[in-house]
Amino acid sequence: MLVNYNLTEEQQMVLNTVKRLAKEKVAPKAADIEKEGKWPQDIFELFKENGLQGIPWPEEYGGTGTGALVLIMAVEELSKYCGVSPFVMSLNDLGAQPIIVAGTEEQKQKYIGQIAAGESLAAFGLTEPDAGSDVASLKTTAILKDGKYILNGQKCFISNADNADIITVFAKTDPAGGHRGISCFVVEKPCPGLIIGKHEEKMGGDALSACELFFENCEVPAENMLGKPGQGFFIAMETLDRTRPMIAAVGVGTAQGCLDYAIQYSKQRVVFGKPIAALQAIQFKLADMAMKTEAARQLTYRAAILIDSYLEGNKDIQRTELSKLGSMAKCYATDVAMYVTTEAIQVCGGYGYMKDYPIERRFREAKLLQLIEGTNEIQRTVMAGCLLRD
Ligand SMILES: Cc1cc2nc3c(=O)[nH]c(=O)nc-3n(C[C@H](O)[C@H](O)[C@H](O)COP(=O)(O)OP(=O)(O)OC[C@H]3O[C@@H](n4cnc5c(N)ncnc54)[C@H](O)[C@@H]3O)c2cc1C
Repeated sequence: MLVNYNLTEEQQMVLNTVKRLAKEKVAPKAADIEKEGKWPQDIFELFKENGLQGIPWPEEYGGTGTGALVLIMAVEELSKYCGVSPFVMSLNDLGAQPIIVAGTEEQKQKYIGQIAAGESLAAFGLTEPDAGSDVASLKTTAILKDGKYILNGQKCFISNADNADIITVFAKTDPAGGHRGISCFVVEKPCPGLIIGKHEEKMGGDALSACELFFENCEVPAENMLGKPGQGFFIAMETLDRTRPMIAAVGVGTAQGCLDYAIQYSKQRVVFGKPIAALQAIQFKLADMAMKTEAARQLTYRAAILIDSYLEGNKDIQRTELSKLGSMAKCYATDVAMYVTTEAIQVCGGYGYMKDYPIERRFREAKLLQLIEGTNEIQRTVMAGCLLRD
């Protein structure tokens, strides 16, 4: 780290634990996690034993209370070696963040404590087959009947929905109401009428499932609504404002891991009688990779610092600043991850393309980051919207 971020002793301790586990336990397993292609329960248990599931959450709900910057730094450390483990630690942050954003005190106490203790897992159910970027056109309905909401519809690509104990689900309580007709619910499993469908086969990261969900007259108690009817869209957007820097951090860690690998490789690989590190063409590649990775890191840390400051009650920070910085960090850092993993393959030549070398896996993992939590085109529309707002 180039700058002292004035972390407290406790924050530094949490981060040191993550760094140690990332190097000693996650790095040697990363290739096997990919090959096995199933939820790495042992990594989840390891994180649970060491209190890592508590990192995203405030102290009053059983978390470490160490804030967004430490979460981002922790995610970055894990992502240097593996594209799955950071999500094992932080996927709950996306799934349960709507409860922090809009839940009552009772709902927060009920759900977050268990999640922070690693006793429960959460998934985030927004995307539908005909509503990805265009959230307002989602079709799942939630109609109030006898004190319960009856959900009907379909979701797709929902990460870890098969393992999750709760899913925050977005559905229309006013089907004609556009984005103002969407509400948000905590659906607890098992729930009659909730069917987990097909696991998609993906380009990478198969250890994390992406599932279809079907709601067939699925009954959800009215008290499981988060916020008020019609607030779902705004809850989803505020959630994403807070979680996009985490995807940025996966991008930064992925880029740094591949840069480190490429540097080592370039010192060892000899062509025309000397290491390729002596060639200016390779040196310039490494310099560009390092420059962009550092720029992505600073933007990501800045977004996290802004979130911490906002949540501490700094009235000078507007919500639009959070949206803009979150989207900038997510977009830039994941584009950098794609660039750096591509260049790292180039530095390693034909070997970089082979499955025996980690760069090939990291390249596939990086591609996902440009798509999830809003594609990078959508991040640019968010930034432009913030810039052009009065
Ligand atoms: C592995 C994986 C895991 C996922 N996990 C989850 C999850 O846990 N929960 C969840 O709810 N969702 C999840 N998603 C869904 C993800 O967020 C969506 O795939 C993403 O938002 C894009 O939606 P789409 O796939 O329907 O693409 P579309 O919306 O159909 O977009 C297609 C293309 O058009 C572009 N585009 C669309 N609108 C605009 C615009 N206004 N301006 C410019 N370009 C535009 C897009 O950028 C993209 O290039 C996951 C996706 C994947 C691949």
